[in-house]
Amino acid sequence: MPHSLSAKMNKLSIRDFELRGKRVFIRVDFNVPMAGDKVEDDTRVRETLPTLRYAIDQGARLVLASHWGRPKGKVNPQFTLAPVADRLRELLGKPVAFASDCVGADAEAKSSALRDGEVLLLENVRFHPQEEANDPEFSRQLAQLCDGLFVCDAFGSSHRAHASVVGITKFVRQAAAGLLMEKELTYLGKAISNPDRPFAAILGGAKVSDKIEVVQNLMKLADTLLIGGAMAYTFLKSQGLPIGKSLVENDKLDLARGLLADARGRNFRFLLPVDHVVAESPNSTETRIVDIAQTPENMMGLDIGPQTISLFNEQIKGARTIVWNGPVGIFEKPAFAQGTLAIARAVAAASVAGATSIVGGGDSVAAIEQSGLASKISHISTGGGASLEFLAGEKLPGVEALTNKSVNQKDF
Ligand code: ADP
Ligand code: MG
Repeated sequence: MPHSLSAKMNKLSIRDFELRGKRVFIRVDFNVPMAGDKVEDDTRVRETLPTLRYAIDQGARLVLASHWGRPKGKVNPQFTLAPVADRLRELLGKPVAFASDCVGADAEAKSSALRDGEVLLLENVRFHPQEEANDPEFSRQLAQLCDGLFVCDAFGSSHRAHASVVGITKFVRQAAAGLLMEKELTYLGKAISNPDRPFAAILGGAKVSDKIEVVQNLMKLADTLLIGGAMAYTFLKSQGLPIGKSLVENDKLDLARGLLADARGRNFRFLLPVDHVVAESPNSTETRIVDIAQTPENMMGLDIGPQTISLFNEQIKGARTIVWNGPVGIFEKPAFAQGTLAIARAVAAASVAGATSIVGGGDSVAAIEQSGLASKISHISTGGGASLEFLAGEKLPGVEALTNKSVNQKDF
Protein backbone atom coordinates (compact mmCIF):
# COMPACT_ATOMS: atom_id res chain seq x y z
CA MET A 1 0.00 0.00 0.00
CA PRO A 2 1.46 3.45 -0.86
CA HIS A 3 2.95 5.23 2.11
CA SER A 4 0.64 8.23 1.76
CA LEU A 5 -2.31 5.98 2.57
CA SER A 6 -1.08 4.72 5.91
CA ALA A 7 -2.01 5.84 9.39
CA LYS A 8 -5.68 6.52 8.98
CA MET A 9 -7.68 3.61 10.30
CA ASN A 10 -8.49 3.83 13.99
CA LYS A 11 -9.88 0.29 14.18
CA LEU A 12 -7.98 -2.83 15.18
CA SER A 13 -6.51 -4.88 12.35
CA ILE A 14 -6.10 -8.65 12.31
CA ARG A 15 -2.39 -7.83 12.52
CA ASP A 16 -2.97 -6.52 16.04
CA PHE A 17 -4.19 -9.96 17.16
CA GLU A 18 -2.23 -12.65 18.96
CA LEU A 19 -3.60 -15.56 16.96
CA ARG A 20 -1.51 -18.62 17.76
CA GLY A 21 -3.60 -21.50 19.06
CA LYS A 22 -6.76 -19.35 19.12
CA ARG A 23 -10.02 -19.96 17.35
CA VAL A 24 -10.80 -16.79 15.37
CA PHE A 25 -14.23 -16.19 13.85
CA ILE A 26 -13.76 -14.61 10.41
CA ARG A 27 -16.78 -13.13 8.63
CA VAL A 28 -16.03 -13.33 4.93
CA ASP A 29 -18.04 -12.51 1.84
CA PHE A 30 -18.44 -15.78 -0.05
CA ASN A 31 -21.63 -14.60 -1.75
CA VAL A 32 -20.22 -15.74 -5.11
CA PRO A 33 -21.97 -16.43 -8.41
CA MET A 34 -22.69 -20.18 -8.67
CA ALA A 35 -23.59 -22.32 -11.67
CA GLY A 36 -25.52 -25.31 -10.33
CA ASP A 37 -23.38 -26.80 -7.56
CA LYS A 38 -20.14 -25.19 -8.75
CA VAL A 39 -18.61 -21.81 -7.99
CA GLU A 40 -18.79 -19.84 -11.23
CA ASP A 41 -16.66 -16.86 -10.23
CA ASP A 42 -14.36 -17.19 -7.22
CA THR A 43 -13.13 -13.57 -7.18
CA ARG A 44 -14.58 -12.90 -3.74
CA VAL A 45 -13.00 -16.03 -2.32
CA ARG A 46 -9.61 -15.14 -3.77
CA GLU A 47 -9.82 -11.59 -2.46
CA THR A 48 -9.99 -12.78 1.10
CA LEU A 49 -7.14 -15.31 0.75
CA PRO A 50 -4.47 -12.91 2.09
CA THR A 51 -6.43 -12.66 5.35
CA LEU A 52 -6.95 -16.42 5.57
CA ARG A 53 -3.33 -17.22 4.72
CA TYR A 54 -2.14 -14.68 7.26
CA ALA A 55 -4.27 -16.26 10.00
CA ILE A 56 -3.15 -19.76 8.99
CA ASP A 57 0.51 -18.72 9.01
CA GLN A 58 0.05 -17.22 12.46
CA GLY A 59 -1.20 -20.58 13.74
CA ALA A 60 -4.81 -19.50 14.27
CA ARG A 61 -7.75 -21.90 14.08
CA LEU A 62 -10.11 -20.44 11.50
CA VAL A 63 -13.90 -20.48 11.78
CA LEU A 64 -15.31 -18.89 8.61
CA ALA A 65 -18.85 -17.63 8.12
CA SER A 66 -20.68 -16.02 5.21
CA HIS A 67 -24.12 -15.46 3.80
CA TRP A 68 -25.09 -16.66 0.37
CA GLY A 69 -28.10 -15.45 -1.60
CA ARG A 70 -31.45 -14.87 0.00
CA PRO A 71 -32.75 -18.08 1.61
CA LYS A 72 -34.99 -15.84 3.75
CA GLY A 73 -34.18 -17.39 7.11
CA LYS A 74 -34.93 -20.98 6.10
CA VAL A 75 -32.70 -23.99 5.53
CA ASN A 76 -32.63 -24.44 1.77
CA PRO A 77 -30.09 -26.74 0.09
CA GLN A 78 -30.16 -24.52 -3.00
CA PHE A 79 -28.30 -21.93 -0.94
CA THR A 80 -25.66 -24.16 0.61
CA LEU A 81 -22.08 -22.92 0.94
CA ALA A 82 -20.71 -26.46 0.47
CA PRO A 83 -19.47 -25.76 -3.11
CA VAL A 84 -17.48 -22.82 -1.73
CA ALA A 85 -15.79 -25.14 0.78
CA ASP A 86 -14.70 -27.27 -2.20
CA ARG A 87 -13.26 -24.28 -4.00
CA LEU A 88 -11.58 -22.99 -0.86
CA ARG A 89 -9.84 -26.35 -0.41
CA GLU A 90 -8.41 -26.04 -3.92
CA LEU A 91 -7.33 -22.43 -3.42
CA LEU A 92 -5.73 -22.98 -0.02
CA GLY A 93 -4.34 -26.38 -0.94
CA LYS A 94 -5.42 -27.83 2.37
CA PRO A 95 -8.46 -29.45 3.99
CA VAL A 96 -11.43 -27.27 4.88
CA ALA A 97 -13.98 -28.76 7.27
CA PHE A 98 -17.62 -27.90 6.70
CA ALA A 99 -20.31 -27.62 9.37
CA SER A 100 -23.86 -28.32 8.22
CA ASP A 101 -25.18 -25.44 10.32
CA CYS A 102 -23.55 -22.19 11.49
CA VAL A 103 -24.59 -22.73 15.13
CA GLY A 104 -25.35 -25.77 17.27
CA ALA A 105 -23.75 -29.11 18.05
CA ASP A 106 -22.03 -29.87 14.73
CA ALA A 107 -20.48 -26.40 14.46
CA GLU A 108 -19.37 -26.52 18.11
CA ALA A 109 -17.82 -29.98 17.80
CA LYS A 110 -16.02 -29.10 14.57
CA SER A 111 -14.73 -25.76 15.86
CA SER A 112 -13.47 -27.42 19.05
CA ALA A 113 -11.67 -30.07 17.01
CA LEU A 114 -9.68 -27.48 15.02
CA ARG A 115 -5.92 -27.50 15.47
CA ASP A 116 -3.49 -24.66 14.72
CA GLY A 117 -3.70 -23.56 11.09
CA GLU A 118 -6.85 -25.57 10.37
CA VAL A 119 -9.96 -24.18 8.68
CA LEU A 120 -13.69 -24.69 9.22
CA LEU A 121 -16.39 -23.16 7.02
CA LEU A 122 -19.86 -22.81 8.53
CA GLU A 123 -23.06 -23.23 6.53
CA ASN A 124 -24.91 -20.13 5.26
CA VAL A 125 -25.71 -17.81 8.18
CA ARG A 126 -28.90 -16.70 6.43
CA PHE A 127 -30.51 -20.10 7.04
CA HIS A 128 -31.51 -18.47 10.34
CA PRO A 129 -33.88 -15.49 10.45
CA GLN A 130 -31.92 -14.27 13.49
CA GLU A 131 -28.98 -13.38 11.22
CA GLU A 132 -30.69 -10.46 9.49
CA ALA A 133 -32.58 -9.59 12.68
CA ASN A 134 -29.21 -9.15 14.44
CA ASP A 135 -30.53 -11.33 17.25
CA PRO A 136 -28.38 -11.23 20.43
CA GLU A 137 -28.83 -14.89 21.41
CA PHE A 138 -27.90 -16.05 17.90
CA SER A 139 -24.93 -13.65 17.93
CA ARG A 140 -23.82 -15.18 21.24
CA GLN A 141 -24.03 -18.69 19.77
CA LEU A 142 -21.86 -17.63 16.83
CA ALA A 143 -19.33 -16.03 19.18
CA GLN A 144 -19.18 -19.25 21.18
CA LEU A 145 -17.43 -20.90 18.23
CA CYS A 146 -14.28 -18.78 18.73
CA ASP A 147 -11.93 -17.77 21.53
CA GLY A 148 -13.01 -14.16 21.84
CA LEU A 149 -11.51 -12.99 18.54
CA PHE A 150 -13.60 -11.76 15.63
CA VAL A 151 -12.36 -10.55 12.26
CA CYS A 152 -14.54 -8.93 9.63
CA ASP A 153 -13.27 -9.22 6.07
CA ALA A 154 -16.68 -8.77 4.48
CA PHE A 155 -16.63 -5.11 3.52
CA GLY A 156 -19.52 -5.74 1.11
CA SER A 157 -21.72 -6.74 4.06
CA SER A 158 -20.62 -4.05 6.47
CA HIS A 159 -23.50 -1.70 5.65
CA ARG A 160 -25.88 -4.26 7.14
CA ALA A 161 -26.36 -4.62 10.90
CA HIS A 162 -26.60 -8.40 10.87
CA ALA A 163 -25.65 -10.88 13.60
CA SER A 164 -22.50 -12.27 11.97
CA VAL A 165 -21.29 -8.76 11.14
CA VAL A 166 -22.40 -6.58 14.05
CA GLY A 167 -24.18 -8.59 16.78
CA ILE A 168 -21.29 -10.98 17.32
CA THR A 169 -18.92 -8.14 18.19
CA LYS A 170 -20.73 -7.69 21.52
CA PHE A 171 -19.88 -11.24 22.57
CA VAL A 172 -16.16 -11.34 21.72
CA ARG A 173 -13.21 -9.68 23.41
CA GLN A 174 -11.89 -7.94 20.31
CA ALA A 175 -13.17 -7.30 16.81
CA ALA A 176 -10.75 -6.37 14.03
CA ALA A 177 -10.69 -5.67 10.30
CA GLY A 178 -9.26 -8.34 8.01
CA LEU A 179 -6.69 -7.39 5.38
CA LEU A 180 -9.26 -6.90 2.60
CA MET A 181 -11.51 -4.83 4.84
CA GLU A 182 -8.51 -2.81 5.96
CA LYS A 183 -7.57 -2.10 2.35
CA GLU A 184 -11.11 -0.90 1.57
CA LEU A 185 -11.20 1.35 4.62
CA THR A 186 -7.77 2.75 3.96
CA TYR A 187 -8.46 3.70 0.34
CA LEU A 188 -12.05 4.83 0.70
CA GLY A 189 -11.31 6.43 4.07
CA LYS A 190 -8.50 8.50 2.64
CA ALA A 191 -10.63 9.60 -0.31
CA ILE A 192 -13.35 10.92 1.97
CA SER A 193 -11.18 12.32 4.73
CA ASN A 194 -7.89 13.52 3.33
CA PRO A 195 -7.68 13.13 -0.45
CA ASP A 196 -4.75 14.29 -2.53
CA ARG A 197 -6.03 17.11 -4.74
CA PRO A 198 -7.38 17.75 -7.24
CA PHE A 199 -9.99 15.10 -6.52
CA ALA A 200 -12.19 14.16 -9.51
CA ALA A 201 -15.23 11.93 -9.15
CA ILE A 202 -16.89 10.29 -12.12
CA LEU A 203 -20.45 9.10 -11.70
CA GLY A 204 -22.57 7.25 -14.18
CA GLY A 205 -24.99 4.38 -14.29
CA ALA A 206 -28.66 4.12 -14.66
CA LYS A 207 -30.41 6.12 -11.97
CA VAL A 208 -29.93 9.42 -10.17
CA SER A 209 -32.04 8.18 -7.28
CA ASP A 210 -29.58 5.34 -6.55
CA LYS A 211 -26.73 7.75 -6.14
CA ILE A 212 -28.15 11.08 -5.12
CA GLU A 213 -26.56 11.00 -1.65
CA VAL A 214 -23.25 10.12 -3.29
CA VAL A 215 -23.55 13.13 -5.60
CA GLN A 216 -24.34 15.36 -2.63
CA ASN A 217 -21.48 14.09 -0.50
CA LEU A 218 -18.96 14.12 -3.35
CA MET A 219 -19.90 17.74 -4.02
CA LYS A 220 -18.62 18.44 -0.52
CA LEU A 221 -15.44 16.39 -0.87
CA ALA A 222 -14.27 16.46 -4.47
CA ASP A 223 -13.05 19.33 -6.66
CA THR A 224 -14.72 18.09 -9.83
CA LEU A 225 -17.74 15.96 -10.57
CA LEU A 226 -18.12 14.39 -14.00
CA ILE A 227 -21.54 12.93 -14.70
CA GLY A 228 -22.29 10.53 -17.55
CA GLY A 229 -24.59 7.61 -18.18
CA ALA A 230 -28.34 7.72 -17.91
CA MET A 231 -28.17 9.75 -14.72
CA ALA A 232 -26.85 12.74 -16.69
CA TYR A 233 -30.21 13.18 -18.45
CA THR A 234 -32.09 14.15 -15.32
CA PHE A 235 -29.54 16.93 -14.79
CA LEU A 236 -29.58 17.97 -18.47
CA LYS A 237 -33.36 18.06 -18.64
CA SER A 238 -33.50 20.12 -15.46
CA GLN A 239 -31.57 22.79 -17.38
CA GLY A 240 -34.17 22.79 -20.16
CA LEU A 241 -32.01 20.86 -22.62
CA PRO A 242 -33.58 18.42 -25.08
CA ILE A 243 -32.90 14.79 -24.21
CA GLY A 244 -35.21 12.98 -26.64
CA LYS A 245 -36.24 9.59 -25.31
CA SER A 246 -33.24 9.20 -22.99
CA LEU A 247 -33.84 7.67 -19.56
CA VAL A 248 -34.89 10.35 -17.12
CA GLU A 249 -36.34 10.57 -13.61
CA ASN A 250 -38.94 13.29 -13.86
CA ASP A 251 -39.58 13.27 -10.12
CA LYS A 252 -35.94 14.21 -9.50
CA LEU A 253 -35.76 17.26 -11.77
CA ASP A 254 -36.12 19.77 -8.94
CA LEU A 255 -33.45 18.02 -6.93
CA ALA A 256 -31.11 17.99 -9.94
CA ARG A 257 -31.80 21.67 -10.63
CA GLY A 258 -31.07 22.49 -6.99
CA LEU A 259 -27.76 20.64 -6.99
CA LEU A 260 -26.63 22.38 -10.17
CA ALA A 261 -27.61 25.79 -8.77
CA ASP A 262 -25.64 25.02 -5.63
CA ALA A 263 -22.61 23.99 -7.72
CA ARG A 264 -22.82 27.19 -9.74
CA GLY A 265 -23.24 29.30 -6.60
CA ARG A 266 -19.93 28.16 -5.20
CA ASN A 267 -18.00 27.66 -8.41
CA PHE A 268 -17.89 23.90 -8.04
CA ARG A 269 -16.85 22.16 -11.26
CA PHE A 270 -19.89 20.02 -12.11
CA LEU A 271 -19.53 18.75 -15.67
CA LEU A 272 -22.29 17.20 -17.74
CA PRO A 273 -22.06 15.70 -21.24
CA VAL A 274 -22.03 18.18 -24.13
CA ASP A 275 -22.51 15.55 -26.83
CA HIS A 276 -23.64 11.94 -26.96
CA VAL A 277 -24.18 8.83 -29.06
CA VAL A 278 -27.87 8.49 -29.85
CA ALA A 279 -29.99 5.72 -31.35
CA GLU A 280 -33.66 4.86 -31.57
CA SER A 281 -33.23 2.15 -28.97
CA PRO A 282 -30.45 0.31 -27.12
CA ASN A 283 -30.87 -2.54 -29.63
CA SER A 284 -30.39 -0.33 -32.64
CA THR A 285 -27.04 -0.42 -34.41
CA GLU A 286 -27.71 2.79 -36.33
CA THR A 287 -26.11 5.43 -34.17
CA ARG A 288 -25.35 9.14 -34.49
CA ILE A 289 -23.21 11.55 -32.54
CA VAL A 290 -24.94 14.81 -31.74
CA ASP A 291 -24.56 17.76 -29.38
CA ILE A 292 -26.94 17.51 -26.45
CA ALA A 293 -28.69 20.66 -27.68
CA GLN A 294 -29.38 18.92 -31.01
CA THR A 295 -30.85 15.72 -29.57
CA PRO A 296 -33.59 14.45 -31.92
CA GLU A 297 -36.94 13.92 -30.26
CA ASN A 298 -37.23 10.26 -31.20
CA MET A 299 -33.77 9.17 -30.08
CA MET A 300 -32.14 8.21 -26.81
CA GLY A 301 -28.66 9.01 -25.52
CA LEU A 302 -26.75 5.80 -24.85
CA ASP A 303 -23.12 6.86 -24.50
CA ILE A 304 -21.12 10.05 -24.05
CA GLY A 305 -19.70 11.58 -27.26
CA PRO A 306 -16.13 12.47 -28.29
CA GLN A 307 -16.23 16.11 -27.11
CA THR A 308 -17.43 14.97 -23.70
CA ILE A 309 -14.69 12.35 -23.61
CA SER A 310 -12.05 15.05 -24.21
CA LEU A 311 -13.62 17.31 -21.61
CA PHE A 312 -13.70 14.54 -19.02
CA ASN A 313 -10.22 13.26 -19.94
CA GLU A 314 -8.79 16.68 -19.30
CA GLN A 315 -10.11 16.62 -15.72
CA ILE A 316 -9.07 13.04 -15.10
CA LYS A 317 -5.57 13.71 -16.39
CA GLY A 318 -4.95 16.46 -13.86
CA ALA A 319 -6.45 14.64 -10.88
CA ARG A 320 -4.50 13.19 -7.95
CA THR A 321 -7.47 11.30 -6.54
CA ILE A 322 -10.09 9.69 -8.78
CA VAL A 323 -13.25 7.91 -7.70
CA TRP A 324 -15.32 6.25 -10.41
CA ASN A 325 -18.70 4.67 -9.98
CA GLY A 326 -21.07 3.87 -12.82
CA PRO A 327 -20.50 3.29 -16.55
CA VAL A 328 -21.08 6.37 -18.74
CA GLY A 329 -23.00 4.42 -21.38
CA ILE A 330 -24.56 1.05 -22.09
CA PHE A 331 -21.08 -0.48 -22.14
CA GLU A 332 -22.56 -3.99 -22.41
CA LYS A 333 -23.18 -3.17 -26.10
CA PRO A 334 -20.10 -2.47 -28.24
CA ALA A 335 -21.90 0.39 -30.04
CA PHE A 336 -22.22 2.26 -26.73
CA ALA A 337 -19.05 1.16 -24.92
CA GLN A 338 -16.58 3.72 -26.30
CA GLY A 339 -17.18 6.36 -23.64
CA THR A 340 -16.77 3.94 -20.75
CA LEU A 341 -13.64 2.48 -22.35
CA ALA A 342 -12.19 5.94 -22.83
CA ILE A 343 -12.83 6.76 -19.17
CA ALA A 344 -11.21 3.45 -18.17
CA ARG A 345 -8.14 4.32 -20.24
CA ALA A 346 -7.93 7.84 -18.82
CA VAL A 347 -8.26 6.63 -15.23
CA ALA A 348 -5.65 3.92 -15.84
CA ALA A 349 -3.24 6.44 -17.39
CA ALA A 350 -3.69 8.89 -14.52
CA SER A 351 -3.04 6.07 -12.06
CA VAL A 352 0.15 5.08 -13.84
CA ALA A 353 1.16 8.75 -13.58
CA GLY A 354 0.70 8.65 -9.80
CA ALA A 355 -2.94 9.37 -9.03
CA THR A 356 -4.82 7.23 -6.52
CA SER A 357 -7.80 5.69 -8.30
CA ILE A 358 -10.75 3.86 -6.82
CA VAL A 359 -13.32 2.06 -8.94
CA GLY A 360 -16.46 0.71 -7.29
CA GLY A 361 -19.85 -0.67 -8.28
CA GLY A 362 -20.67 -4.04 -9.84
CA ASP A 363 -21.05 -2.81 -13.42
CA SER A 364 -18.15 -0.39 -13.22
CA VAL A 365 -15.86 -3.14 -11.99
CA ALA A 366 -17.12 -5.38 -14.82
CA ALA A 367 -16.36 -2.57 -17.28
CA ILE A 368 -12.83 -2.04 -16.00
CA GLU A 369 -12.17 -5.79 -16.06
CA GLN A 370 -13.51 -5.92 -19.61
CA SER A 371 -11.16 -3.12 -20.62
CA GLY A 372 -8.17 -5.16 -19.46
CA LEU A 373 -6.95 -2.21 -17.38
CA ALA A 374 -7.98 -3.39 -13.93
CA SER A 375 -4.40 -3.99 -12.81
CA LYS A 376 -3.60 -0.29 -13.30
CA ILE A 377 -6.28 0.86 -10.86
CA SER A 378 -5.08 1.60 -7.32
CA HIS A 379 -8.09 0.04 -5.67
CA ILE A 380 -11.06 -1.88 -7.00
CA SER A 381 -13.71 -1.81 -4.34
CA THR A 382 -15.46 -5.11 -3.68
CA GLY A 383 -18.40 -3.75 -1.76
CA GLY A 384 -20.97 -2.30 -4.17
CA GLY A 385 -23.65 -1.01 -1.80
CA ALA A 386 -21.24 -0.60 1.09
CA SER A 387 -18.77 1.51 -0.86
CA LEU A 388 -21.60 3.72 -2.13
CA GLU A 389 -22.90 4.27 1.40
CA PHE A 390 -19.37 5.02 2.56
CA LEU A 391 -18.89 7.56 -0.24
CA ALA A 392 -22.28 9.03 0.62
CA GLY A 393 -20.83 9.82 4.04
CA GLU A 394 -22.80 7.24 5.98
CA LYS A 395 -21.34 5.27 8.85
CA LEU A 396 -21.18 1.53 8.17
CA PRO A 397 -22.44 -0.48 11.15
CA GLY A 398 -20.00 -3.32 10.46
CA VAL A 399 -17.10 -0.88 10.63
CA GLU A 400 -18.36 1.06 13.63
CA ALA A 401 -18.70 -2.22 15.57
CA LEU A 402 -14.99 -3.03 15.30
CA THR A 403 -12.79 -2.38 18.32
CA ASN A 404 -11.11 1.03 18.38
CA LYS A 405 -7.37 1.17 18.66
CA SER A 406 -6.41 2.37 22.08
CA VAL A 407 -4.67 5.74 22.11
CA ASN A 408 -1.31 4.32 23.14
CA GLN A 409 -1.39 1.75 20.36
CA LYS A 410 0.67 2.76 17.36
CA ASP A 411 -1.08 3.40 14.07
CA PHE A 412 0.01 1.28 11.16
P1 ADP B 1 -22.65 0.24 -10.90
O1 ADP B 1 -23.10 -1.20 -10.83
O2 ADP B 1 -21.24 0.36 -11.39
O3 ADP B 1 -22.91 0.99 -9.63
P2 ADP B 1 -25.16 1.07 -12.08
O4 ADP B 1 -25.75 -0.24 -11.68
O5 ADP B 1 -25.60 2.27 -11.38
O6 ADP B 1 -23.55 0.96 -12.03
O7 ADP B 1 -25.45 1.33 -13.61
C1 ADP B 1 -24.99 0.49 -14.61
C2 ADP B 1 -25.96 0.41 -15.76
O8 ADP B 1 -26.25 1.68 -16.31
C3 ADP B 1 -25.38 -0.41 -16.89
O9 ADP B 1 -26.15 -1.58 -17.05
C4 ADP B 1 -25.49 0.50 -18.10
O10 ADP B 1 -25.92 -0.17 -19.26
C5 ADP B 1 -26.52 1.51 -17.67
N1 ADP B 1 -26.39 2.78 -18.42
C6 ADP B 1 -25.32 3.57 -18.51
N2 ADP B 1 -25.57 4.61 -19.33
C7 ADP B 1 -26.83 4.47 -19.77
C8 ADP B 1 -27.68 5.23 -20.65
N3 ADP B 1 -27.25 6.36 -21.24
N4 ADP B 1 -28.93 4.79 -20.85
C9 ADP B 1 -29.37 3.66 -20.25
N5 ADP B 1 -28.63 2.91 -19.41
C10 ADP B 1 -27.38 3.31 -19.18
MG1 MG C 1 -25.07 -2.10 -10.98
